Amino acid sequence: MPHHNFIITPHSIHTPTAIVHTEYDPTTLDPVPSPAWTRFVCISDTHARSFDVPPGDVLLHSGDLTSRGTVAEFRKTVDWLCGLPHKVKIIIAGNHDITLHEGWYDKNPLRWHRDVGKQDRAAILQLLKGPRAVASGLVYLESEEHVFQVKDGGRTWSVYGSPWSPYFCNWAFNYKPEDGPALIAKFPKTDILLTHGPAHHILDRTNHGDLPGCPALRARLPDLRPRIHVAGHIHEGRGAYVHAWTGTGGEGEGRGEGEGKEGEGEAPRVQNDNWYRDSDSDSDLDEDDEDEGDGEEDEHADEAEDEGEREGENELGVTPLPHPPPPTPVDRTVFVNAATFPSGRHAWRGVRVKGLHACHGVLVEDREERMKVPFGGPGFQAVVVDLLD
Ligand SMILES: [Zn+2]
Repeated sequence: MPHHNFIITPHSIHTPTAIVHTEYDPTTLDPVPSPAWTRFVCISDTHARSFDVPPGDVLLHSGDLTSRGTVAEFRKTVDWLCGLPHKVKIIIAGNHDITLHEGWYDKNPLRWHRDVGKQDRAAILQLLKGPRAVASGLVYLESEEHVFQVKDGGRTWSVYGSPWSPYFCNWAFNYKPEDGPALIAKFPKTDILLTHGPAHHILDRTNHGDLPGCPALRARLPDLRPRIHVAGHIHEGRGAYVHAWTGTGGEGEGRGEGEGKEGEGEAPRVQNDNWYRDSDSDSDLDEDDEDEGDGEEDEHADEAEDEGEREGENELGVTPLPHPPPPTPVDRTVFVNAATFPSGRHAWRGVRVKGLHACHGVLVEDREERMKVPFGGPGFQAVVVDLLD
């Protein structure tokens, strides 16, 4: 068998409080910058497949653990997840994990499982929440909150997990558009938000150009402002984007197709594009952002100088004015569509096929061709998110 070498184009987004690696060579992936950071490894839509993921502190899985919710598929997935080194592994269900939707699956189990028979939900919950799962740090969340700690004496992190996604062909955990606001109003404010479906217009564009993400979730984001929101579901929307909320509004960090500056209090608009390069400093958007950022920094620098002078005058009997308040920390949300199921235009890419090949009767060394990316392969790797504690 020829040895296939997919061509990897490393890509990261760097901000003061969040670093995101969307494409990387696992053998040379940067570690967290310091012990003050925590590494989250984000995956979704694994559909009973397994593949290599980088180590880290926390694994986040945004649903579609299986293709059709059989006990065998869950066993395979849980075997894989329990063997991963992450201390905490937060997982949710997706629309394909049909057996977990209590009351709904039972109405018509044979619609899905005529060949294998009705599946045992209790056995599946035992896999997801039983002693072995607990011992390996697996935490299954179904519309519930959880708080965990990964470093001894370190901070705690809160997470909320919801398996629900907008109605699509009557799959599990589907809600009608009119039911979205009430369902999402129940989401508490947490550090980490896991939903199976993405928010509308944030990494949700399908191959057909639709944006089926949830508008109610999008409308709620300015209030929730999690440090990280992981979704999946729309496989071809895989990618990441960091949004900085400034004051009541927000500005994008990074660059996404169709992205622009937003009005006050609005969630960002990011169409899926896992190929954008935020580090390009020649875009209009980046230049605007930099200009504003510099302006703010200059302002603070001036204040600091003034203060220094005032302190110098202290011996003259001048009471120093109060220190200026520190700059307000910027809230940032890292948006991740963590789908690892290769789909859409990025599911095929160039590979170097090593060795000698006969080409039109001539022997040639190493050639390039296009091949289907495997689960979790380049373009669909686990998204690695480092957050400053
Ligand atoms: Zn899926």
